[in-house]
Parts: sequence; C-alpha cells; structure tokens
Amino acid sequence: MQSVPESGTTPSPSWTQRVFGRWWRSQSPSRQDRFATLGPLVSVLLFLAAIVAAFWTLRNEEIERATDAVRRDTEVAQQQIRSRLSEDQELMVRLTRDIVTHDVDTDSFFTQTAAFAPARPELTQVIWLNADRTPRATFLGSIFRGAASLRNSAEDPSLPHQGANTASEAAFTAARNTHVPQFSKPFIDVDGTAVFQVQIPLISHTAFVGTLVAEYSIEALLRHAVPEEVTKRRAIEVLDEHEELLASTITSMPGRPSAVPSIAFEAPLAPASNGLILRGLGYRTSIGLIANSLFWMVLALSGLTVWMLLGTWRHVRRRAQIQQALVHETNFRRAMENSMLTGMRAMDMEGRITYVNPAFCAMTGFSDNELVGKLPPFPHWPHDRIEENARLLQQELQGRSPAGGIEVKIMRKDGSIFDARMYVSPLIDAKGVQTGWMTSVTNITEAKRVRDQLSASHERFTTVLEGLDAAVSVLSVQQGQLLFANRSYRLWFGSDAHIHAVLAGGIDANMPPPDLDTEDGVDGYSGLPANELTEAGTSPREVFVETLDKWFDVRARYLQWTDGRLAQMLIATDITARLRAEQLAQQQADRAHFTSRLIAVGEMASSVAHELNQPLTAISNYCSGMVSRVRNESIGQEDLIAALQKTAKQAERAGHIIHRIRNFVKRREPQRQVAQAREMVEDAVELASIELRRRNVGIQVYVAQRLPPLLVDPILIEQVLLNLLKNAAEAIDGAQLPLLRRHIELRVVPRYTPDEGGVIEFSVNDKGPGLKDDVLNRLYEAFFSTKVEGMGIGLSLCRSIIESHRGRIRAQNLYNGSTVVGCSFSFTLPVETTQRVDSANALSTFEAAAEPDANGNE
Ligand code: ADP
Repeated sequence: MQSVPESGTTPSPSWTQRVFGRWWRSQSPSRQDRFATLGPLVSVLLFLAAIVAAFWTLRNEEIERATDAVRRDTEVAQQQIRSRLSEDQELMVRLTRDIVTHDVDTDSFFTQTAAFAPARPELTQVIWLNADRTPRATFLGSIFRGAASLRNSAEDPSLPHQGANTASEAAFTAARNTHVPQFSKPFIDVDGTAVFQVQIPLISHTAFVGTLVAEYSIEALLRHAVPEEVTKRRAIEVLDEHEELLASTITSMPGRPSAVPSIAFEAPLAPASNGLILRGLGYRTSIGLIANSLFWMVLALSGLTVWMLLGTWRHVRRRAQIQQALVHETNFRRAMENSMLTGMRAMDMEGRITYVNPAFCAMTGFSDNELVGKLPPFPHWPHDRIEENARLLQQELQGRSPAGGIEVKIMRKDGSIFDARMYVSPLIDAKGVQTGWMTSVTNITEAKRVRDQLSASHERFTTVLEGLDAAVSVLSVQQGQLLFANRSYRLWFGSDAHIHAVLAGGIDANMPPPDLDTEDGVDGYSGLPANELTEAGTSPREVFVETLDKWFDVRARYLQWTDGRLAQMLIATDITARLRAEQLAQQQADRAHFTSRLIAVGEMASSVAHELNQPLTAISNYCSGMVSRVRNESIGQEDLIAALQKTAKQAERAGHIIHRIRNFVKRREPQRQVAQAREMVEDAVELASIELRRRNVGIQVYVAQRLPPLLVDPILIEQVLLNLLKNAAEAIDGAQLPLLRRHIELRVVPRYTPDEGGVIEFSVNDKGPGLKDDVLNRLYEAFFSTKVEGMGIGLSLCRSIIESHRGRIRAQNLYNGSTVVGCSFSFTLPVETTQRVDSANALSTFEAAAEPDANGNE
C-alpha cells in the first residue's frame, strides 16, 4: 500500500496530522499495510470492549440500585417491627408494674390484655407466670387456633420448666437473674407456629415474683408489622441463627423450588436480640434480559465485523503477495530487458513505435523519447534507403516477414550505419488479440565481417585445394563416405569413394574394425584416442592406376573431421612424369655406364691389341712353321699334333680375351643378382691385368674367406673395380715411379659400422703420387680430369653405381708421416640376407627404381 500523497491544494494539516503523516511515511509499506489492516480490527475490538464495559457498569448500577431498594425495604420492615415490639414491651412493662403493685389481679389482667390484644394480632398469648414458673393467668391471642391438648401441660414449650433446656426456660432464668426483660430464642409452640417470647420480670421490692410472658407469632409479626408496600415489592423473611427459614411474607408453591433470589439484605430483628435475622429478597427485573440480548447482538455484530475484517485482511494480504510477485516479475523483466543485447522495438498495427528497449537505444544512439510515438519514416532509417525500408515495413505489417529474419541497414544518430538482422513477431496481448508487431534487432556487423572473412578464407582454401595438381580427398572411416574431394580427385576418379580406399590401400589394418552392428550406426571408433590416431600418418605409397595409366604418390593420415568424426585424408600426387624421367635418367645412366665401358675398352685398345698380338703371332708362327715343315715333310704326325694343339691353345687364349672384353662391354639391361665378391674381383683383375702389364704395374689381391653373397649387378661392380685399378695404374705410370712403387693392392674384407650395418669393403690402394687437395674436392665431378686425354667421367659413374647399390665410395691419401705415399679408393656394399635377396628379386624393375629401400619392408 502506498502512502497517501500530499496534495498541494488541501489546507495545511494540523499539528497532529503532520506528526501522524510523518510517522506514517516513516513506516515501511508492509508495516503500513499491517497498520491499515489492524487499525479497524483494533477499533472494533475497542468498541466491543467499550460496549462490554458499558453493559457491565449498567448492570452493576442496576444491581446496586436493586440492592439499595432491598436494603431500604428491609430496613423499613425492621423499623416497623422494632417500633411495634417496643410499643408492646412498653405496654407489658406497664402491665407488670400494675401487677407488682397489685393493681391488677387475674381478672383485670385479662381485661387489660384483652383491651390491647385485638390490635396485636401477632401476640399468640400473654402468660403471667409465678416465680415458681406456674402460670397464674394465660391470655390467648386473637389467632388462637383451638385449644391444644398440650397447652399448659408439662410439655408446653411456651412455659419454662425447671432445668429444661428450652428457649422459654432460658429467657425465664435470664429475666429472673437480670431483672430486665428478656427475648427468648425462637421455637415452635404447641400449634406448630414459630414463635418467640419476651419475658418481663415481675419485681416486687427487689424480689422476683415471676414474669409476664408475651409470645409472638413470627409470621403474624411479619404480616402485620411490615408495611404492605414493602411486601408488595419484595419478600421479607425471618431466619433463626442457623439461617433456618422461620417465616416469610410470600408462600412458595408446594413441591416447586422457589426462585433463587439475586439480591438479599439481612438485618437483625431488633430489639429482639435473640438471633433472629430479618432478610429482604430482591429478584432481577426484565431490564437485564433486554440488556443481555442487546449485549449479545452487539457482540455478534462485532464478531461478524471482526470476522469480515480478518477476511478482508487475508484478502488484502493475498493481494499484497500478488502485488509483490508482480513487482518482482516486473523488476525481473525490466532487468532482463535492460541487460539484453538485442534491440527490441514494438509497433502498433499502424506502424507507430510504441516501445523501444535500452539496447535498441544504445544501438541506434537515439533516446526512447526520440523514437516512441514516431510514425515511419523512422529516424534510424538511412536517408538513401527510406523507400526500401518503407517496403520492408509494409511487408512486416502484413506479417510477411521471413522467419529467418531480414538483413537491414540501420543509421545511428551520428549518421553512421551498421548492418543488423531483424526478426519480426506478432505482439499478442493478454486477451489473445494482436496489438502490433515486436521487432528484435541484432547488430551483425561483426558477425558479417567474420562471415565474410570466413567465406574469403574458405574461398582461398578451396581455390588452393581445387588448384592443386594432387588429388585431395577425405573419407569418413566409419561410414566409408566421401566427405571432401578436390577438383583433381573429381577429375581423375569422379566422386567414387572406392578409389580413395584403393589408393589408401584399405583402412589401416592395425585399427580395430568399426562395429557396424551397433544401433543407428554410431561411430565405431568413438572413444579411440583420435589425437594419437590423427598424428600417426601412414608411410607414402606409390600406386599405379591402370585405368588412368598413371602412377600416384599416396600419402594418407587420419584426422578428426569438422563434425568430430574420424576421417582419413588422402593426398595423391601424380608422379608418372617424375617416374618416367627417373626411368629415362636410369636408361641414360645405363647407356653412360655402357659408353664408359666402351671408352674403358677403347682406352685399353692398344693394350688389348698388344695382348692379342702375342697369341696371334704365336699362332701365325706355329702355322708358318708347320707349313714349311709339312712342305719339307720334315714333321712327324706327333709333332704336328702338338704344334696344332699349341696353335689351338693360343687361339683359345685370344678368344678368351675377346670373349671377356665382349662380355664386359655387352649392352644389356642392368640386373641385380646374387653375386660373390671373389668372382667379381677375379673378373675385374683379369680385365685390368692387360693394362697393368702394359704399364708394368704389379697387383696384389686379398679377398677374405667366406664372404656373404651380395645383391648387385656384377658387371657394374666389375666396371667400378676396373676403373679404380686403371686409375691407380695410370697414376703410377704417369708419375713414372720406380719399380718399387709400381704396385697396387686390392683388398676385400667384411666390415660392420653403426650407420651402415654389415657391409663388404673393397679398397684399391696404390703407391702413386696421391690426390691433391683441389683434385680431392672435385673428384666425382663429371668431366673433371687431370689427364690430357682423360674424359673425367670414370669416378662420377663409379659413385652413381655404388650409391645406386646403397653403398658408399670414398677416397683418401695414404701417408708415411706427413708424406703422401699413395692413395686409397674404397667402396662398401651392404650385405643382404638370403631371404631379403629372394623377395627383392621378385620386385619389378620399376618399383625397385621408385623405391630405393629394396629390403622388402613394403
Ligand atoms: P679420368 O681418369 O678420365 O681422368 P676419372 O674420373 O677416372 O677420370 O679420374 C678423375 C681424376 O682423379 C683423374 O684425372 C686423376 O687426376 C684423379 N685420380 C683418380 N684416381 C687416382 C689415383 N689412383 N691417384 C691419383 N689421382 C687419381
């Protein structure tokens, strides 16, 4: 509940109003609510209390009044009885005086008593008693009810009897002893009437001579002494000292309990100080009943009011709770609205802006005052787009805006423009009626920029991938579905995922098979450490695709696709041209080797001619000798046979030389085969020996025992050995060294080095001039030679041959101290196991050329 606002036009409030107003405003709203509710409740309760108090006071006053009246009436009765008894006593005293003075005898006693008795109907009897208690005369009162048999007998309670414990005896004794009149205690006389006596002593010259007894009926006394207006109003009763009822002015209905009096007033029945009590009784009048019903009515009405107030209070409290919830809700919504980054704009059905949220204002720079109530064209529409915006608005108002929102340009107050996406939804009020349109606006400048950048980078990426000569493809491992294929892939293989698998050589065999039986085909590789998998690429493969007649270098690796699936990426590069070039180069190399062999042989031509000359001369000599001796007939058959045998041997020798040279230079395909080092060495040395002999150079060969076989082309290795031996011989010969140094050593030994493993080392050591530094650096350069007719291709070919056999060639000078005493050319060839050799033999020439690692690991 809000505090009442002060109005400026109202007259200035009084001091109390001001104080109250200040106090009221200082209270919290909830306290104000409580006070506002409790106020009426408290006033109703106060009202009820006042009514109760009023009624109570009234009732008390009434009771008091009634008690007063009873008291007054009782006192009147008491007064009347007293004066009557006092009068009687006076009469009696006068009578006693006359009796004592003997003016009265028995007769005159009767006369005198009879004279006053009629006016004293309450007197039941007047007895003149002697001092010995004997009655001298008895006058019976007007209310005599017949002569009782017991009267004046010994049992008559009205007469005193010596030693008896009766009221009459007690009064008699007291009167005799005190000499003053005595009232007896009440008792029941012979007629059953409640009576009491007054005994006046008869004193004659101080001597006690008897008493005069006046006996009163208590009931008659009440009836005659109490005034009628008193008895009309209330009941007067007489009680004995034990509160036993002796007489009453009203007679109760027999058999029914008398009504319980509400007021009683008691007074002693003076002057009879004999314990009798006079009691006046009062009863409640009808006024109490009326007051009661009024009281109950007020009480009921108050109860009703309290009940209704409590109901109202509960209602108000519920309303307050609802109000509080509403305030909460409103605050929450406002906070939400204020913290929202999306701009909100509401319009009525005509397109008038009815609401903008803070985000919209912040976005545009306009305050809500500048926007709310505006009709199109709105201030945030760019000037050059008013028509377009009007068309969009029209579309919006007709509810035809696309659900995905529309991209618009919005102008800020400072004139700058930004891109925004706008979503429109109908604004429905609480009754379900559309009251307008709600537009939400998000600034997408940044998002757009990022999107543009992304699409540009995507474009770059695709341009690069599409422009690649290599085929790039990505295959989902589990579904076997082609996720990406670039232009080259599509061009060569179409969109066939199968080719990918073929190129990749199937999915890695080390990988667990995907569980294709699992429901809804979830990724069977899920849970695999994809990171490790994607890091592990497969080693490159070379695959020949028959349909395209192309060789591909295929590299594959696993990766996590954009949607988290495990995928295999494959890059297949067309290497046909390279392989062809390599093949061509190989062919050329082979041709070069062949040429070099021809050259070597050509160079050796004079030596060979010289070598052939000997057998041919010998043959010629043998032949001409045999011819002349046959002519002379000086030769026997045996000699002829021997000479012919020698001739044949020489021809065989020449043929052998030619055969070896022919073998050496024979043009053939290079072929690796299992070869023994010893055999190759022997062949090479035999070929070289012609040259060595011509140059007068000695050779010493050492080949280690039990060397493992080699997988080589023996002719090429022989060519290398021959070249090295020839170079050594030429160096020695060229330096014109003395005989002592015209010596070459060829050693073949097995060796093991950590980086090469098991190898066989061939070394050719000469005692020639050695290698100069500049020569050492350019040794393997093609066409580098220090000789006049040198071609300079020998060592470069040697190196290419050795390296193509995965061996190494090296040259070094030999020293004696610091003096060069020759040089050593050595090369190594790796030792292959028999198993490896066999499988290597199965490889095609092409694969062997493409894959230098011929150890069969693939
Ligand atoms: P060529 O023998 O036609 O000159 P090579 O390639 O066989 O071509 O040799 C290159 C050069 O290496 C030779 O010209 C020579 O200077 C040098 N050379 C080769 N072998 C030896 C050797 N044993 N002693 C000294 N020099 C050598």
